[in-house]
Amino acid sequence: MKPVIALVGRPNVGKSTMFNQMTRSRAALVADYAGLTRDRQYGTARHEDQDFIVIDTGGLTGERGGIEALMQDQAWAAVEEADCVVFMVDARAGLTVADQEIAERLRRSSKPILLVVNKVDGVDESLVQAEFARLGLGEPVFTTASHGRGIAAVWEGVLALM
Ligand code: GDP
Ligand code: MG
Repeated sequence: MKPVIALVGRPNVGKSTMFNQMTRSRAALVADYAGLTRDRQYGTARHEDQDFIVIDTGGLTGERGGIEALMQDQAWAAVEEADCVVFMVDARAGLTVADQEIAERLRRSSKPILLVVNKVDGVDESLVQAEFARLGLGEPVFTTASHGRGIAAVWEGVLALM
C-alpha cells in the first residue's frame, strides 16, 4: 500500500499548487480564485524511490450549507483516508479563525499533521513563525509553492511523521 498524504486548508492557500509540485502534474486545477477544486483529486508522487498517493481537496471553510458543505465533507473524507495530513496556511493572509477551527478538528482526528506555511515570498518568516506557532502544531515548514520552494522540506517533514 502506498502511503496517502492529504492536503487540506482554507481555499486559496495554495493546496492545488502544492499538489502539482508534489505530483509534478497538472492534474489539479489551480485557480486564481478560491475553491475551484470541488472534489478530491488524487495523484501519485515519487520521492526517494517510494511511491505516495497525494490527495488535493477543495478547501475547508467555516460555512455550512450547499456546495461549501459538500467540499468540506470531501476534505474530511480525505483526512480519514490519509496516513499523514499536510495542513496548509497562508503567510500573507496570516492566522485566521478558520485556520484555528481546522487545526482543532485535525487534532481530534489524531492523524500525523505537518503544518505548512505557504506564500512566504516577501514576508518576514520569523514574524509568521510566531503567529502560526499559536496553532500548537509544532514547527512549520515554510514554502513558496508557486516557485517550487520548500517542497523538499515538505517531503522531509512528511517522512519524519510516517
Ligand atoms: P487552493 O485553493 O488552496 O488549491 O490554492 P491554489 O493552489 O489554487 O492557489 C491559489 C492562488 O495562490 C493561485 O493564484 C496561486 O498561483 C497562488 N499561490 C500558490 N502558492 C503561492 C505562493 O507560494 N506564493 C504566492 N504569492 N502565491 C501562491
Ligand atoms: Mg485547489
